[in-house]
Order: sequence, then structure tokens, then C-alpha cells
Amino acid sequence: MVKIGILNLQGAVSEHYDITKKAIENMGVDVDVEPVRYADEVADCDGIIISGGESTVIGKIIDRRGIDQVIKENNIPVFGTCAGMILLGKKTDFDQPLLNIMDITVGRNSYGRQKDSFESTISIFNEDFPGVFIRAPLLKDYDKTKEDITILSEFDSEIIAIQQGHNIAMSFHPELTENTKIHEYFINEVLNR
Ligand code: GLN
Repeated sequence: MVKIGILNLQGAVSEHYDITKKAIENMGVDVDVEPVRYADEVADCDGIIISGGESTVIGKIIDRRGIDQVIKENNIPVFGTCAGMILLGKKTDFDQPLLNIMDITVGRNSYGRQKDSFESTISIFNEDFPGVFIRAPLLKDYDKTKEDITILSEFDSEIIAIQQGHNIAMSFHPELTENTKIHEYFINEVLNR
């Protein structure tokens, strides 16, 4: 059975688990979802979700456990939110381990500190969506020569959701809403492989 793994190292893991389960139910598809912590568990998944949290902490554990290697070797689609977006990229403003599987540069805490976190209606897939931004990163740059890159959403003239091939990065937190649309989109990407 197709399996989505929620990387369970640190951060908003249970929220992603719950909403992924709900998305699967809504879609009526035969997909399993499981929290995963080690490289062998990750290798067994058809898609991986990396939650928000602290990208330094999550990145160090990914590196130490060789989780980045199995993702790359098995070409597993990854969906990252917030800290997950930072980790998908190839560069950020701190020296920290990254997955380097999307040609994007992401600035950490670019909207300010915790108190500057905010919610605003955004638009994605031609629909309104509740955008939750918590010490959110900002997409600083992406490789414009890459034809497999698609901008999924912009807000305030900034790119807040971007896809490259089967990898998807968002600066906000769809897992902290009741709306399953974005998770359904990722599950479809995994199923369409
Ligand atoms: N500021 C965090 C980081 O840089 C990300 C915040 C979040 O995931 N909500 O890793």
C-alpha cells in the first residue's frame, strides 16, 4: 500500500498526521500514513512530510541518521512546511544541514519574531486558504532556469508555495487548519508517480 511518512523528529508532527489522515479519508484512497523516525522507516515510504519546528534541530537529526541519503537514493517526494521548506532548499542564511533537493534559497524567520506571527487568507489552486505564518521563512531566490519549478502561491508579492518536480515547499502551516486541500494535492502527487 502507498505510504506517507510524517517525519517525527521535532515540531508540528501530530497535526500533519491528523490532517493527512483526514485528507486520505476525504479522497477515499487506499493510502497509509505513519510517523517515521529512522532512515529505514523513511525508505519504506512513498512520500515524506517535514513539519514546521526548528530547522536546525530537524536538519541535524536528518543528517546524523542518514535520512537525506535515503530520500535522495529512493527519489521520495517531500512536502515541507515552514522549517520543512528551509530544509528542502539548497541554501539558507545559517550554516546548517539541508536536504538540498530543491533549487531554492530560503531566508529563516524573515517575517520577524514569534510575536510577528500572523494569519491571513491566501490563494492557492484558485481557492482561498487560511494562511498561518509562524516565524515563517521567506523564499529569497530560486533557479529560474529550472523548468520543473512551479510557483503555487504568492502573498504580498512574495512566493509562499513552490514546487519542483515532486517536491513541495510552503512557508506557512496548512496542518494547523481544518482545510485538507493542500495535503490532498501532495497525496495526489505521490499517487501519480
Ligand atoms: N523559524 C523556524 C526555523 O527557522 C521555522 C518556524 C516554523 O517552522 N514555524 O527553523
